[in-house]
Amino acid sequence: MHDIDAILERMREAIPAGPVRIKEAVEGGRKVVGCYCAYTPYEVIRAAGAIPATLCATSEKPIAAAEEHLPRNLCPLIKASYGFALTDTCPYFHFCDLVVGETTCDGKKKMYELMDRLRPTHVMQLPQTVSEDAVGQWRTEIERLAWRLEETLGVTVTEEALRREIAWRNEERRVMAELYELSKLTPAPLSGREVHMVNEYFKVGFGDPEMLDLIRDLTRKLRENYEAGERRVSPDARRIIVTGCPTGKSVEKVFRAIEENGGVIVAFENCGGIKPNYELVDESLPPYEALARKYLGIPCSCMTPNAKRLDLLEDLAGEYAAEGMVDLILQACHTYNVESFLVHERIQGGRGIPCITVETDYYQGDVEQLNTRMGAFVEMMG
Ligand code: SF4
Ligand code: SF4
Repeated sequence: MHDIDAILERMREAIPAGPVRIKEAVEGGRKVVGCYCAYTPYEVIRAAGAIPATLCATSEKPIAAAEEHLPRNLCPLIKASYGFALTDTCPYFHFCDLVVGETTCDGKKKMYELMDRLRPTHVMQLPQTVSEDAVGQWRTEIERLAWRLEETLGVTVTEEALRREIAWRNEERRVMAELYELSKLTPAPLSGREVHMVNEYFKVGFGDPEMLDLIRDLTRKLRENYEAGERRVSPDARRIIVTGCPTGKSVEKVFRAIEENGGVIVAFENCGGIKPNYELVDESLPPYEALARKYLGIPCSCMTPNAKRLDLLEDLAGEYAAEGMVDLILQACHTYNVESFLVHERIQGGRGIPCITVETDYYQGDVEQLNTRMGAFVEMMG
């Protein structure tokens, strides 16, 4: 098998093995803390000796069960998160000692009140704007998380451990950034769906240095083979950036519709891609302050105003030579949906790059419609 295909295959196989690795870690005495959101400071959880695990939230399977307790007119990500917990079908939730939530959007913060009945849930009060006052408040919230972890896990979170984990998480971000940046080449060395698969693999790495090494190997091999003339993506494929709500299994239908109809995704700005990783934690600052500044700077639509996301999108559009932008909206996600107007205004109106808003849920009933819309969108680019 070709070396790049072999690496990608190893990564694909590692994703479903994630729950077994967590089970073995728990049997070996490790603690697991469940997380959902990019605002969760993984460094603090790791400094408490626990494994931060991204909980299942991106499948339609548990939604019907969730709707027994939650309104139907709610974002599928929130319903799926709760449904997996309620039906005990998320293996990571099953093993976790504590769940960490944040007050991002209204649906999520209210859902956490119900989730707390299923598993102790620590909710961090996230300020919804960026200012020096807000940095101070968020710093206090991060310190509160450390105290809760100390109390729950019976450990002490030391400054030394925090500094060590900040450095390691920064290294993880750098490794992912190097892979993402390869897609600035024309044509991109990997398809967007392959990059998305690597993102999913990264999530089940749980900080394992060997798993990170495999991503480094992939990036190195891709660069070498590209320099030797190998092209895996057609030079005619239209270069598209995906932005909006978080990516995941059930919205891969959108990525397929883009890439099977003449496009290639050169960047995912979403959570699960560039947005939470493009800035590092400043290692020269005191740890809690550095973490507060980094995490509060994540440009999620729950922030108001959220000009930083528009600036990021404009920068990415230039750096990745984007020819189109797809704003992925999960049904009933009001914040991203409202912000879509501003994305069109800045990117299409300001830079002349065509934008399309795609509103969808986790069910697969709109696959044909997505194919038609994405085909027409790519064709329209000429
Ligand atoms: S989009 Fe916002 S609320 Fe959702 S995971 Fe990302 S940071 Fe959290
Ligand atoms: S996608 Fe939107 S509605 Fe859903 S959890 Fe994220 S911010 Fe909330």
